[in-house]
Amino acid sequence: MSHTTELLLEAFLSTTSNDIIPLTAKGVASGCKVFGAAILRKSDLSLVIAATNDETTSPLLHGEINCIQQFWALPSDKRPPPKDCVFFATHEPCSLCLSGITWSGFDNHYYLFTYEDTRDAFAIPHDIRILEEVYKVPAKGESAEDFASRPLYNKSNAFWTARSVEELVGQLPEDKRDAMRGRVTQIKKQYAGLSETYQASKGDKGIPMA
Ligand SMILES: [Zn+2]
Repeated sequence: MSHTTELLLEAFLSTTSNDIIPLTAKGVASGCKVFGAAILRKSDLSLVIAATNDETTSPLLHGEINCIQQFWALPSDKRPPPKDCVFFATHEPCSLCLSGITWSGFDNHYYLFTYEDTRDAFAIPHDIRILEEVYKVPAKGESAEDFASRPLYNKSNAFWTARSVEELVGQLPEDKRDAMRGRVTQIKKQYAGLSETYQASKGDKGIPMA
């Protein structure tokens, strides 16, 4: 990809504000979680499709999975090959979505909020819990400390490379970082509002992992 880090960040933040958040605001109002995703063309970073969580339809319709489903539903002349696309998730993809991204053939993904943000700022601990409970097997003779500090998944692997928005901001020239962090903070404030709405209304929707 030949885009500068700055252009990539611009595309992620404007797509989040203009395309993902309006969908997510509607989803949250109907009891769905705050997670969204978008697929962009590598060539010019134009939007192919954006989507949000639709868990009241099915607990598997996470923002990323819903985005992938809608991407494959596009007519083939409107759907670039996954290898020619950038995958963006508002929140670090869970184990289901990591697999969905892999099975769909994307060679990258980027995310705004980390698992720790999702657990601590959004009160949704399932990403980390599922990876720890289902996938993380203690190695023979491994100390509790080594087990705890071992990464939950491989961010650079044979299928894809995953990067956070914070990592990208850190790669910007120093004089551009503060302005970009300011924009990220503005978007994060909008998510704090969406999260409050979700937490206040999630109780009675019958979502297994609310
Ligand atoms: Zn997911």
